[in-house]
Amino acid sequence: MKESVRVIDGGGNGFRRADVCGFEVKNLVAITRGQIINPQELIKFACADLSKNCIGIVYAVAGEIQNGVVVKSPQIHWLDGFGLFAETVGVSGKKVMVVNDMDGAIIGMAKLMPTLDYFMAMTWSSGIGVRVFRNGEILCQGEGGHIPLDPSPSAPLCDCGLQGCAESILGGESIKRRVIAAMEYIGLQFPDKHPCKVLDECFDKGAGWAWDIYNSVAIGMGTFLATYQTIFRFPVLVWKGGFATNAFPRIVESIRKHMQARLINQNWGRKMAFIQSPRPDIDSLIGAAALFRQMYK
Ligand SMILES: [Zn+2]
Repeated sequence: MKESVRVIDGGGNGFRRADVCGFEVKNLVAITRGQIINPQELIKFACADLSKNCIGIVYAVAGEIQNGVVVKSPQIHWLDGFGLFAETVGVSGKKVMVVNDMDGAIIGMAKLMPTLDYFMAMTWSSGIGVRVFRNGEILCQGEGGHIPLDPSPSAPLCDCGLQGCAESILGGESIKRRVIAAMEYIGLQFPDKHPCKVLDECFDKGAGWAWDIYNSVAIGMGTFLATYQTIFRFPVLVWKGGFATNAFPRIVESIRKHMQARLINQNWGRKMAFIQSPRPDIDSLIGAAALFRQMYK
């Protein structure tokens, strides 16, 4: 049997684990946010049902990672400062690695699209994650979702503790709150479905309030991307994430228009291709396993 790497990825929506061999992802188990509430439970989840062919364990989690320690996770605060590497080695006796979830995603995207040698990767779901890939490598660790977008004192509070971050304005969680507030304001009955689904349905029917929200999202995302494009001039943005999946088909040209309006050369925005990750469901798992194999080759 082929050797596999146990991968655990985690972010705002919960955790998943799988056994990965190349592009093959097996034994996928997903649990929602709140089902694991401390590091010991996470390690137990990571080490459960390990097969004999498992050569090691890699975590891909949201946050800043240094030497196997989760220094600061904007969404999983109980991991802050925790030595996930050392504790998991202790429990499992396996080789272990801890990477950022966006590192896993962008390496997975690069593996799935080997012709791309320079691109920006963005996950746009409950939060926003960004990485840059150039010539086979991740350019740097960063927390792109926490770029300041609104410097005013009344800017919304972000999960990271700061105010006015891109994520606090454009993240799916924040937009969900805006949709709920808009529906309450105009007296709409609250249906039994996700508020962002209501936003999409009302936008598609031409409801003014939904157009207003998506228009302000397009302005915000256009401004956010203009910041990146001014510095990096990417030929390609590869995107994934629950919010992006619904928003991009509806407002991608509006986002591009607002991005171009904020660039000193509009061509930098005109030429940028927006591509969805070919396997948004498993790119981070594939990429994290590839990073593990690279480290322990
Ligand atoms: Zn923030």
